[in-house]
Amino acid sequence: MKITEHIAQAKGKTLFSFEIVPPKKGNNIEDLYKNIEPLLEFKPPFIDVTTAREEYYYKEHPNGLLEKKLTRMRPGTVGICSAIQHKYDVDTVPHVLCGGFTKEETEDLLVDCFYLGIDNVMALRGDAMKEERYFRPTKNGNAYALDLVKQIDNLRKGIYLHDDVEANTKMDFCIGVAGYPEKHIESPSKVFDLEKLKEKVDNGADYIVTQMFFDNKKYFEFVEKAKQMGINVPIIPGIKPISVKKHLNIIPQAFFLDFPEELVKEIEKCKNNAEVKQVGVEWAIQQSIELKQAGVPSLHYYSMGKSENIIQIISKVF
Ligand code: FAD
Repeated sequence: MKITEHIAQAKGKTLFSFEIVPPKKGNNIEDLYKNIEPLLEFKPPFIDVTTAREEYYYKEHPNGLLEKKLTRMRPGTVGICSAIQHKYDVDTVPHVLCGGFTKEETEDLLVDCFYLGIDNVMALRGDAMKEERYFRPTKNGNAYALDLVKQIDNLRKGIYLHDDVEANTKMDFCIGVAGYPEKHIESPSKVFDLEKLKEKVDNGADYIVTQMFFDNKKYFEFVEKAKQMGINVPIIPGIKPISVKKHLNIIPQAFFLDFPEELVKEIEKCKNNAEVKQVGVEWAIQQSIELKQAGVPSLHYYSMGKSENIIQIISKVF
C-alpha cells in the first residue's frame, strides 16, 4: 500500500514509522530482524531502508603497496525491503539514489521493486563520495533527485529508457523526497531550496520526509513556507534521538543544522553516554508529543537499526 494511502486511511491520526540501515556486508539479516521486531509491536505502517553508495578502500599488498578499490559496504536495500515486507506484512520504502547508479541500473532496480510488490520508493540524490568534496553525478546517472523523480514518474506512465520496451504494465510507485527545515547544506538560500523541493513535487513526488531537526519551530516554519509556496503534499518530520556526546559536533557539520541551547546544555552536563542517551530520549519525547499534537502525518524516527531508545520514546508518545 502507498504511504499516501496509509496517511489518508489514518484520517488525521499521527502514524509511527522508522528508518533502518542495511547491515555491513558479511553480517546476517537476523540481527536486523532482532532489532526491528520489538518496534513492529507498535504497528508501523511503513519502514524505510537506506541505501549507501559505493566507497573507496585501500587493499595492502605483501610488497606494501596500496591498491585503491571500490566497494559497496552495505548492499542489499531492495532485498532487505522485500524480506521485511514479506516476513512481517509491513510496507517498506527503499531509498533510491542518483549517486553511484546509472539510469539503466536505476530502471532495473525499480523493475525489481515492482516485481517484489514494493509500492513506495524514496528518491534521493545522495551525497558526495567520502573522499570527494562535492557530489559528482555518475556517468549516465541522474544529477539531482528531481531527475530521479522524473525517471520514476515516467515508469508510472509506462515510459522506459528505451523506446522499444512494450510496456503493458505501469509501475505505480508512491514517491517520497527529502526536505530540509534548516536548508540543504549546498543550497544558497532557504527560498532556493524550497523552490527545488517544489520542482520535485510538481514533477511527481507524493510526500516529503524531512531531515532531522531538534527545534520543532524549524519544522513548523518550514511547513508554513512550503504551503505558501504551493507545496501541498504531506510533510513527515524526521526525528533523531541523540545517543552519544560526539553527536553534538558531528551532526551540525554533517547535516547543517543547529542544536537548541537548552539541549546542548543538558548534553554537556552528562557524565557518560548512558546519560546522553537518556537526555536524547527525553528530548525526542517532547519533540514528538508537540508534533503529534500539531497533527503531523507520521513521526519518522532515524533508528539506525537500534530499537531500545525508540521504544522508550514511542511508548510515551503513542
Ligand atoms: P536534491 O533534491 O537533488 O538537492 C541537492 C541539492 O541541489 C540541494 O541543495 C538543492 O537545493 C540543489 N538543487 C536541486 N536541483 C537543482 C538544480 N536544478 N540546480 C541547482 N541546484 C539544485 N543519503 C544517502 O546516501 N542514502 C540514503 O538512504 C539517504 N536517505 C535520506 C533520507 C532523508 C529523509 C533525507 C532528508 C536525506 C537522506 N539522505 C540519504 C541524504 C541525501 O542524499 C543528501 O542530503 C543529499 O545531499 C541531497 O539529496 P536530495 O535528494 O535532497 O537532493
